[in-house]
Amino acid sequence: MERNLSSAHIAENWTPASWQAKPALQQPAYRDGAALERAVARLRELPPLVTAWEVLTLKRKLADAAAGRCFLLQGGDCAESFADCTAPVIANRLKVLMQMSLVLVHGLMLPVVRVGRFAGQYAKPRSADTETRDGVTLPCYRGDIVNASAFTIDAREPDPERLIEAHSKSALTMNFVRALSDAGFADLHHPEHWDLAWAAHSPLYDEYRKMARSIGESLRFMEALAGEPPRGDAKVDFYTSHELLLLNYEEAMARRVPQHWGWFNLSTHFPWIGMRTAQIDGAHVEYCSGIRNPIGLKVGPGVTIDQLLRTIDVLNPANEAGRLTLITRMGASKIDAELPKHLHAVKAEGRRVLWCCDPMHGNGETTPGGVKTRRFENIRAELETAFDIHAACGTHLGGVHLELTGEDVTECLGGARNLTEADLARAYKSTVDPRLNYEQSLEIAMLIVRKRGM
Ligand code: PEP
Ligand code: MN
Repeated sequence: MERNLSSAHIAENWTPASWQAKPALQQPAYRDGAALERAVARLRELPPLVTAWEVLTLKRKLADAAAGRCFLLQGGDCAESFADCTAPVIANRLKVLMQMSLVLVHGLMLPVVRVGRFAGQYAKPRSADTETRDGVTLPCYRGDIVNASAFTIDAREPDPERLIEAHSKSALTMNFVRALSDAGFADLHHPEHWDLAWAAHSPLYDEYRKMARSIGESLRFMEALAGEPPRGDAKVDFYTSHELLLLNYEEAMARRVPQHWGWFNLSTHFPWIGMRTAQIDGAHVEYCSGIRNPIGLKVGPGVTIDQLLRTIDVLNPANEAGRLTLITRMGASKIDAELPKHLHAVKAEGRRVLWCCDPMHGNGETTPGGVKTRRFENIRAELETAFDIHAACGTHLGGVHLELTGEDVTECLGGARNLTEADLARAYKSTVDPRLNYEQSLEIAMLIVRKRGM
């Protein structure tokens, strides 16, 4: 039965600043209000990072993913850092996403829509406002757009100038992403040149090797059809996303686009609302209700069906396809008990959503030595179980949301090389959540294909 949409919130009184009348969680306490206002005023004058036309194109692709006509691959760092705004880090991240998408395209026989967690993923929600070390208490680190991670009073002071720097770093990242994407990644079209040494350590080595060989064969077949190698100018699309968290920044990046009838957030194509700020009467939901971008909403184990359906109505009162992506992050141990009821309710109420699985955020743990990590086996288990539960409920899992990097880090346990607790010390670089490294990311793409395709 359709719920009564007329009772849903209508964004009549919405403005980019209307969130200010609502409770806004996870915002920093800026000490100098005048400096904040000056920074926000400058930000408002700076050019946008994306266009409304691109945003609407992505929305159509997300509608396609919901209908099973393509697959969403969304991935990147937990948080970008200003220091990592460098050519090798950006290029390696694109490279791993591109290779994963080639695996998925050939294995699932579907187009893949590639969305990075980049060019603006600078704000982090935290579980506590302060952090104490050796008896000293300081404000928590909230991401490079707010303060710095070093444990000193100066570093932790929220600095409004960082809003401008985040915009610049996002623009630099976007510029390089666009340049690399325009060049088409032709050199990645040959799996025989990929670094697949890790696969030899897996019991699934034979399957992985077969998969890489068959990708190579179909790429060569397509080249033969075209009569030439992949062209260097065959553009590959990448879209951007980030957690919509720091509302002063997002307000300044809201732009009215008369040709497309309305307001867009032009700092990113695809903002999402995190678990900690998804209150139905809260500031983040209010802000998102008035912009025309596609919106992601994280859905975790505590969310009730009533809460979920009411939030869907606020964010997508017209039940528009492609507008809302529900990113479920239940945890491998809770997904069986939690996910089916959400799928059944949303389906029964006829709500149009794209279902996407984030197998990272419900699977965090801390080692006895105090290191934040995630086990590859739990990530894999949540993802594979999500596919099974969707199949059993008659719903469609149309995408995956991952925290990953193209670097050779050791932050998540397990994978083909079976990283152990002792390995974590070798190359643990994240200041926030642990990411899949290059090899573990590629392995996840192959496991998705093993589960669903070929
Ligand atoms: C995140 O995606 O980095 C995050 C904080 O996720 P969640 O809101 O699902 O905990
Ligand atoms: Mn994270």
